[in-house]
Parts: sequence; structure tokens; C-alpha cells
Amino acid sequence: MTRGQLAEWTGLDASTVTRSLRPLIDDDYLRESRPPPTGRSMAGRGRPVQALSVNPGRHVAIGVKLGPSTVSAVLTDLSGTVLARHAASLASADPATALATIGAVVDELLATSGSARQDVLGVGVGLSGHVDPESGSCRLSAILGWRDVPVREPLADLLDLPVVVQNDANTLALAEHWFGRGRGASTLAVVTLGIGIGCGLVLGDRLHTGERGIAGELGHLPLDPQGRVCTCGARGCLEALAGDTAICELSGCVSVAEAMSAASERGASASSTRAREAFRQAGDALGRGLAGLCNLVDPELVIIAGESAAAFGLMEPAVRESLAVHGFSGISAEVRIEVDAGQEDLWTRGAASLAIRAGVGQL
Ligand SMILES: [Zn+2]
Repeated sequence: MTRGQLAEWTGLDASTVTRSLRPLIDDDYLRESRPPPTGRSMAGRGRPVQALSVNPGRHVAIGVKLGPSTVSAVLTDLSGTVLARHAASLASADPATALATIGAVVDELLATSGSARQDVLGVGVGLSGHVDPESGSCRLSAILGWRDVPVREPLADLLDLPVVVQNDANTLALAEHWFGRGRGASTLAVVTLGIGIGCGLVLGDRLHTGERGIAGELGHLPLDPQGRVCTCGARGCLEALAGDTAICELSGCVSVAEAMSAASERGASASSTRAREAFRQAGDALGRGLAGLCNLVDPELVIIAGESAAAFGLMEPAVRESLAVHGFSGISAEVRIEVDAGQEDLWTRGAASLAIRAGVGQL
């Protein structure tokens, strides 16, 4: 962007923009270059107008995804380009083991990439459950079995680096918005399917985490007062009706992958009929959940992601039907739903982006 474009975008006057940028240019965070060829020329007479871009090599950032059995992480430059990645299995999800494993993974990333600790702008960590943005602690995570576990402070002490902690669906929403299918969409929801059903919201180009960090807990939308008991203790949450556990129970299969292959069998054996019905019921619940989401925030785009996203195709007819019934004013026909079943790096790149965003805010 040129200074003129930045002034227009921020609503600040040109002299304020120039003054604010000076220290960032002096410290080599921003570099001047020729303006992009498609950009509107702000050049008058005299010297050509220069565009400013981020110097991606000025710092590195680390993004971590903490799961119940694995810690995966990437080291990126300031543009989110992955320079190194590493993963380690967790012997147990108890907090001390998890934090020590994150420490070992960060050391390994620094060693393999040849980066110095003082080059790291920060470490972003995504984990499932309710993460309190104020205290940086995990208030509740059924998947990790955690309740009121401090994360940010002990990890910052252990790593000797700034740490930012966020719900993992939120880190994924940030990544989709910055680098993925959500680029250019101002309002979007990323819905993750798996053992839990998570959701990250970007509203008006900003990640929306809510006052206490539970915004987007789509998985605990109460859909059926008589339904299955959920991991949160309540009855009939979307997650209890359409999460992996429900699909396994309904289909009689040990995993969603097994249920998917049973449902995809030709013919109508008892096991394939039962598996198809499981996906129909899960899809019906998911459609009602998505209708609630769409009626509430009216997103331009819904991205289906997470470890069971590949099963969405089997649920989709029931999802669409349910969304058509419950979506207000024909929204179901207009909202775009896209499936992003790959790109494992996106979770960790999102966590790194979180650290970049927080770190740049501290400059
Ligand atoms: Zn629940």
C-alpha cells in the first residue's frame, strides 16, 4: 500500500500516517518499494510514490496447536510463510506434560530453522475449549480434560517469550481469513467438525471472541432437550447430536472413517443403511445449528473444516434441507458453504498469526 492508500483505509490524515510509519521504517519493519502495478497511482509531479510492505524477515513467529495427543507447531516469517514445522506426541494431556512438550517443540523449531530466540516476536497457542483471553487460562476443555488451567503465564516463563492463547477454532478462522478460503470475505464462520464442534467467527474483518472468550460455541447450541448428554453436561447440544461420538453411536461404527466407508458401500446392507441414517441425523442437527448461526450473524461464507470435515459430503443433503427449513428469509440459498478438509498447517499458521498480530500491537 502507498501512504495515500493507508490514509484512506485508516481514515487518518496523511501527515499522521507519515509520522506513524517513520519509526517502523527506521526499525526495518516496513520497506519502501515500487507501488503494485494494479494500484491506483497517487503520483503527482516529482518523485514517484512508493508503496510500503512488511519486511517478512524482520522477525519470526511460532504457532502451536495443542491437541489431546499431539502438539504440532510451525515457525513462520511475518507474512505467515512456514519456515519450519515440527510435531510431537503427548504422553498425557495433563497440563505439566503438555506445557513441557510445547517447550521441547519450540526448542526443536528454533534449532532446525537456525532462528535465535530473540528473533521470535511471540508464540501463539490454539487449544480446544473455553480460553479466557484476559487471563490466558483455559477455563474448560472437555477434550483435554482441563478446568481452570493457566497457560499463558507458565508458558511465557518456560519459553522466555511472549505468549498468546486462543481457542483453536478461532486461530483457524484467523488463518482462513488471512491465508485461506476466507480471503476477501468480511464476515465468515469457520465450523470445525470432529469430536467437538467448534466455530470461529470473523465479523467485519475482525476475529470475534466475545467478552469472555466463548463466542462461537456453536457446538453447545441447545437443540434438543431430550437429546444425548453432551461433554459439557447439558442435554441435546449440537456437538452431542452431530459430533464424532454421535455418528459412531448412531452408525454402530468405531470411527467416523469406518462409518464413511460403510455409508459409501453400494447397495443397502444393514450396516450401510444404518451408517447413512447416522449421517442424515447428524446432518439434520448440523443444518439446524448452521441455520441458527446464519440467522444470528448472516455470514457471507461458512467454511467447514476440522478432522471430520471429509464426512460433510455425506451429511450435506440433510444439512441443506434443514437449513432451508430453518434459515430465515431464504438465507440458505445465498450463504456459501465450502469444505476445507486439508491444509493441516492452517491451524498452526493461524496460531502464528495470532502471535504476529499481538506482537505487532506491542511495538
Ligand atoms: Zn454441550
